[in-house]
Amino acid sequence: MSSFADLGLSTPLLRSLAAEGYAAPTPIQAKAIPHVLAGRDLFGCAQTGTGKTAAFALPLIERMQATTRPRAPRRCRALVLAPTRELAGQIHASFRAYGRHAGLSCVAVYGGVSQRPQADALMRGVDVLVATPGRLLDLVNQRLADLRSVEFLVLDEADRMLDMGFIHDVRRIVAMLPRERQTLFFSATLPAEVRQLADSMLRDPLEVKAAPQATPAETVAQSVFHVAKSGKRAALVSLLRAEPMGRVIVFTRTKHGADKLQRDLAKAGIDAAAIHGNKSQNQRDRAMAAFKAPRPPVLVATDIAARGIDVDDVSHVVNFELPHEPETYIHRIGRTGRAGRSGEAVSLCDPEERPRLRAIERLLRQPITPRNAPPAGMEPDAETPADDAGDRDRERGRAGRRGGRGRRPR
Ligand code: AMP
Repeated sequence: MSSFADLGLSTPLLRSLAAEGYAAPTPIQAKAIPHVLAGRDLFGCAQTGTGKTAAFALPLIERMQATTRPRAPRRCRALVLAPTRELAGQIHASFRAYGRHAGLSCVAVYGGVSQRPQADALMRGVDVLVATPGRLLDLVNQRLADLRSVEFLVLDEADRMLDMGFIHDVRRIVAMLPRERQTLFFSATLPAEVRQLADSMLRDPLEVKAAPQATPAETVAQSVFHVAKSGKRAALVSLLRAEPMGRVIVFTRTKHGADKLQRDLAKAGIDAAAIHGNKSQNQRDRAMAAFKAPRPPVLVATDIAARGIDVDDVSHVVNFELPHEPETYIHRIGRTGRAGRSGEAVSLCDPEERPRLRAIERLLRQPITPRNAPPAGMEPDAETPADDAGDRDRERGRAGRRGGRGRRPR
């Protein structure tokens, strides 16, 4: 299959895709679209960047066009569940872009903004409703949304739903839907609980693995600095100064940590913006606009907020703290090295975090290269045990190379 037309998509969609500049389907699109068009359930193992959104949006738009129905108040024909408002916003934008010649209506509902305009938009009924689970349940409980006419269900980023504690909400929502429906299920990783959820929702699904364009391990150069917890801030500042970097995302585990780090970087004279769940939509939009601009600030983000970052040319991902879930590390570093570009992921690991590092290395099935010495100009913090990194080298049976990369501060 080499073109969208070969996959069975009709002219209005082909026109939209040409306008988007999509020349050919991505592998997951080529595999999934014909089967979804034929009405089959789908179990897709795919992460952001594979084109999974179009893999479900295109055939659903096509199917809805082919069987138009009058809209019923507060009801929708297709329901797309997404874990974050950023992702819901992106999916909504994709449906609008792909469906611009299809005459379908699409509404997104998510928390953190006033409910009223969303309820008004639903009032006359819509074709596609994109929703985060919590806000959708609020609307349903107030009888402002009615799920009894759903013909198509998409669950996107199921693993994130689980991580974020939405699993009960998702189950509650699914229980309200007609049994006779087509369900498309996507997850980047497949822990047992995700499998169970999929089994409970899908009927004889086609399983599609998005052979990721390239695994992060292939396009992202990964390395780790071993530093004491108290030395992390200084290490980060030196790192940011020592290497010429384009777009940098620094991950922290907590919202509070993100704010604090952003302030510390600012104090060190490094332009930084923070994005996390406690920021207003307006603040996030501003941070994202700045990050997309030619001279972007360093973006300090929590995992959840970062799900919505849709920027292809991130040059560096820095893990200021290692995540508890090794899968999260993969999500994080997948923010760089996209669309055929190379990327770099650097982790700062303190002694307490070493078990997490090992879990990540197990998942990757490869060790992450330790950087034996800080870049020139980054003196180890007074509290950093001097042979922290040396221990690790011995652990790996390698000789420590002091002074290795010879970078100089700018
Ligand atoms: P997704 O994995 O759905 O988040 O999509 C990742 C990015 O790829 C988005 O910016 C899409 O607009 C883009 N994209 C999706 N499908 C194609 C395609 N067939 N050709 C070019 N770009 C695409």
